[in-house]
Amino acid sequence: MRCPSCGDDRCVIIEESETHQKGFGFFKGCCGYILMGPIGWMCGLCGMGEGHTVQKAYFVCQNYGRKFRA
Ligand SMILES: [Zn+2]
Repeated sequence: MRCPSCGDDRCVIIEESETHQKGFGFFKGCCGYILMGPIGWMCGLCGMGEGHTVQKAYFVCQNYGRKFRA
């Protein structure tokens, strides 16, 4: 991978992961209850504590330590 800034090819690929935690299910549970009754409430609660992780790849230029989106 070549650095778009200085053209050096010693860039190193790194991966960062971000975890997005879903906000609690109480509000969603309420909405679900209004829409679908007890089943909706359960669905709202099921979403609790569930998060998803996003992997992002970057490459870092050895010259400046600059970080670029891959
Ligand atoms: Zn560079």
